Amino acid sequence: MLDFDVIIVGGGPAGSSAAIHLAASGARVLVAEQKRFPREKLCGEFISPECLEHFARLGVLERMTLAGGAQVSQTVFYAPSGRGLTVPSAWFGGGARGALGLSRAEMDARLLARARDVGVRVVEDASLAGVIVEGGRVAGVRLHASGEGVCEYRSRVTIDATGRQRAVARHAARELNAGEESDGRRVEGSNRHVEKSRTRAALVAFKAHLEDARGAARTCEIYFYPGGYGGLSPVEGGLSNLCFIARARDVRERSSDAERVMREVLMRNRRAARTLESARARTRWLGVSIESFGRHAPAPGLLAVGDAASFIDPFTGSGMLMALESGELAARAVARWLSESRRARAPFDAHARDYSDAYAERFHARLRLCSALRRAAFAPPQLAELAVMALNMSERVRRRLARATRRSALPSIQH
Ligand SMILES: Cc1cc2nc3c(=O)[nH]c(=O)nc-3n(C[C@H](O)[C@H](O)[C@H](O)COP(=O)(O)OP(=O)(O)OC[C@H]3O[C@@H](n4cnc5c(N)ncnc54)[C@H](O)[C@@H]3O)c2cc1C
Repeated sequence: MLDFDVIIVGGGPAGSSAAIHLAASGARVLVAEQKRFPREKLCGEFISPECLEHFARLGVLERMTLAGGAQVSQTVFYAPSGRGLTVPSAWFGGGARGALGLSRAEMDARLLARARDVGVRVVEDASLAGVIVEGGRVAGVRLHASGEGVCEYRSRVTIDATGRQRAVARHAARELNAGEESDGRRVEGSNRHVEKSRTRAALVAFKAHLEDARGAARTCEIYFYPGGYGGLSPVEGGLSNLCFIARARDVRERSSDAERVMREVLMRNRRAARTLESARARTRWLGVSIESFGRHAPAPGLLAVGDAASFIDPFTGSGMLMALESGELAARAVARWLSESRRARAPFDAHARDYSDAYAERFHARLRLCSALRRAAFAPPQLAELAVMALNMSERVRRRLARATRRSALPSIQH
């Protein structure tokens, strides 16, 4: 049995952000990641400009900017007719540097390497076998590491950073419910993991890196089409990332063939039909189904960061930003508790509530707005045309809408 101040399960941007900030505050941190990095990841790979401020605070800005990624100075949203609406990257915030197009294989590996450099114990190829529950609270994890069998790791705080899988929260809910049932009680309400918002039909997302796509230079292009939307964004090596979402039934009707879905569904958007006409996939297609968006309730003794806390609609290109921000926010709450509890017996629940309140203040308005934008994106195509025409009439409204999908940067942690 090994003891840590904090165990973080999941080594994506949320987990690495929390780990690096916590290690900088002097905490003993373990990150357990089920994959070996670098690994591919289904994502639009549009790194919003404000992320670069986080990279600077995390000590990885130079590693990221030297990774060969593409500068992305604007996003153009295309209605099905091909009519476009331009949003400069600088409107999102983060200064004039613009956004970055870099594969998740490169970005996530750099963040996790930084965590190692600042003293975090990182275990890759380690998947979660279960959680340790004591006194109705999560008190650590059981990890299945390759070649080592199952080991127990105990921690004062456990953080779920497993993305949309919410693996720790699911294990915790099962074990807490089993414990409560054997006591004749059952965890209901806030301890159950409620999916706050469900899309009417399940969606499927695909991603590949393409060559010979003819998108405009330094531009992320977003295409709307019946039943979905997709983005084409430059990444390293002169390639473009194509990542798109379609209705599950449209995908099933095409035998789940991503290339066919691209040609027959996404390319119904006239602009996409032009830019992707001679494009070819240079990597394999990744696919994943998307069942829900929105916020999830955490279990006692557990904090959740990134997508494990809430999943924001991808086309706003702000999921990684929220992952980095929430990782820092959680690290701040935990670091404060660790330092107070060294002096006196401070209860963790009050700090968990502080994190939850700070999270709500920082993200809830954003999540609500993005949920409304998602509904608009799935509205009949004529509405998308009207919205693009209306927003083209006012730069002020466009600018305010772009800003409203984010909020001001988080001030750095005081150590
Ligand atoms: C279609 C699509 C397009 C997107 N495009 C963009 C975009 O262009 N820009 C943007 O900012 N955001 C985008 N996002 C959102 C972005 O990908 C996420 O918000 C971001 O990855 C969240 O980071 P995270 O660290 O919370 O989770 P993740 O990045 O999912 O990382 C979780 C990590 O946990 C590990 N893990 C999972 N289960 C276990 C387990 N049981 N044990 C151990 N480890 C485990 C995984 O291997 C993974 O490495 C997109 C999302 C989708 C679905």
